[in-house]
This record gives sequence, structure tokens and C-alpha cells, in this order.
Amino acid sequence: MSVATGTAVEQLEVFAKTIPTDAPESDGTLEWDSTTIVVVQVHAGGLSGLGYTYTHDAAARLIEDKLAPAVRGVMVERDLSPAWHEMGDLLRNVGRPGMGFMALSAVDIALWDLKARVLGVPLVDLLGGVRDEAAIYGSGGFTSYSLERLAEQLAGWVAQGIPRVKIKIGRSPDDDPERLDAARVAIGDETALFVDANGAFDREDAVAWAERYAREWGVTWFEEPVSSADLAGLRYVRRRAPLDVAAGEYAYVPADFRNLLDAGAVDCLQVDVTRCGGYTGFLHAAALAEQHGLEVSAHCAPQASAHVCCAVPHFRHIEYFHDHVRIERMLFGGALEPDGGALRPDRSRPGHGLVLR
Ligand SMILES: [Mg+2]
Repeated sequence: MSVATGTAVEQLEVFAKTIPTDAPESDGTLEWDSTTIVVVQVHAGGLSGLGYTYTHDAAARLIEDKLAPAVRGVMVERDLSPAWHEMGDLLRNVGRPGMGFMALSAVDIALWDLKARVLGVPLVDLLGGVRDEAAIYGSGGFTSYSLERLAEQLAGWVAQGIPRVKIKIGRSPDDDPERLDAARVAIGDETALFVDANGAFDREDAVAWAERYAREWGVTWFEEPVSSADLAGLRYVRRRAPLDVAAGEYAYVPADFRNLLDAGAVDCLQVDVTRCGGYTGFLHAAALAEQHGLEVSAHCAPQASAHVCCAVPHFRHIEYFHDHVRIERMLFGGALEPDGGALRPDRSRPGHGLVLR
């Protein structure tokens, strides 16, 4: 009889924290004034792994009740896939897509980080790093901003050396031309300009606006022109719009990504590591995208995303989202700072290198 050797997870801790935004924020379909982060720590052999997701604090209880029992005893040096599948099984009747997979994502990120720390290697190498740094784009430009604040934020990213920025549009479309004018003036001609409607338009309006965005302001990326639930609508806009159509931030389980790809709904697949099942789910979604000949863009949570994005060959960029940049700096020591429009994982540190302040 062989005896199991290795390092077993002893304990899981979870907490939620709600942090007010620095100003009221809105996009094409939602308004908010705070963001909740759910943070998981897993402990083994005197080391800790850290994971997180952005969702309602109810996810903390879900993690404690449903997922923690499955995580205790996991041998971290071994393949983490069995734990990922077991957590998915345990969520079946609770609901996997949505908050269930956000909870699972936080735990999976923490387990991968713990594994890398136990092995004493940087996470980027454990995940299979193929590049040293991951390109980012500045993301914010909320519809609630004044033109002055909009211009100041975008120019700030350009001054940091970030050559791509994204603004929200579609809340009150007639106001968007002057916002796009202000954006283009603030960033100059050399910076790529992206827009995100968060599903605010119907198909015909989306196509008409896409033509104007591209022609008048040189926009190259149109995110969620119509609802992400309308796969045929995304495909309709994609076939007619003279720019890239992107979606994927509301894809959770692998089938969600497969459905988007099979429908021909996107030019670039967005994947959120804090929603799609953590690093395990991200690599799975990236493999699906590769099979469809598409690149992957990481949605939000830049500090968790940077490491896995360095392990995806057909990768485009990470969304360097204003709210999450602020929160991740506030809560975590070891957060990566942009350098030349990219985040570069620190290979001198094991795991992802983030520590709770
Ligand atoms: Mg979006």
C-alpha cells in the first residue's frame, strides 16, 4: 500500500469587502457606487494562496458552505483538476453559471497560487508562460463622468505609456459624439480607442453606430453592442460592423464560451478569470478560442489575470479596469504596475506574488 505524500490544504478562509467607488459610475445599462470583492485564502504547510472575485458578498457564504469542505485535504503538488470538477459537481443544484462559478473561480485562483508557493515557483511558469509581459488597455470612461474627468482619465493612461483605452457608451447615445470627440482629443491619433455598450443597443442601431465609431473616431473595438444573451444579434453586428466585436464577460462555464464561439458571435473572446472558473477555466476557454482561430482578451481583475495571460499564446490584452486597479492596489501588496503598456509578472516571487495588506 502506498502512502500519500505531499502538502494537504488545511484551512480555507473567506471574507467580503464592499468598497465605495471614487465617484458615481455608470455604463450603457447599469449605475453603481460601490464594488464588492470576495477574497479567499487557502493554507497548507505554513504557506497561503490568495484568490478573489468581484460579486455579491453572498458568494462568501457559498464558498464556506459548499466549496471549503471539498478543498480541505487537497494535495496541492498534484493536479488541481479533480478539485475543480468536484467543486463544479457540488454547485450543480445551487447553480453553476453566475455566482456559483465566481465563487469557484476565487477558490481555484487561491489553489493555483498556493501550489506555486509550495513548489517555490512563479505562477506564470507553473501555468506555462510563453511571454514575459501582458499588454493592457486602460478601461473606464464611465457615462457618469464629465467631459473633463473623461479626458483627464484617458490622458492619464496615455501618459503612463498605455497605448489603448476604452470608454463606456450607449446610455444616452446622442451625447456620445461629444464624449468621443473629447476622448480622441485627449489621447491623440496614435492611441487605440475602444468602446463598450454593455448591451445597450438593438441590432440595427448597433450597426449604424459601429459605422460612425469607426469612420469618425477611428474606433477599432466594439464590446457588447447588443446583449451578450443575443448570440445571433452579436453575429449580425459582427458581420456588418467595420471593427472588432467582442464579448464573453458573462460567460462562466465552458459551455458558455462554446456557445459564443459556435455562434460566430465575436472577433475576440473575452474571458474573466474571476468568473470563468479561475486559472483552470481560463486555460480551458483559451483553448476553445484557439480552436476557433480567435485571440483572447482578459476582462477586468488585472492583477489575477496577468499571470495566466502570459501563458496564452493567442492573447491580445488585459482590461486594466479603473475600479479593480484601485481596489487591488488598496487590498494587496505586490500589485504589478504598468510598464510600457503591459504588466510583467515578477518571476523572483513565488505564486502570483500578491499578499493581503
Ligand atoms: Mg464590458
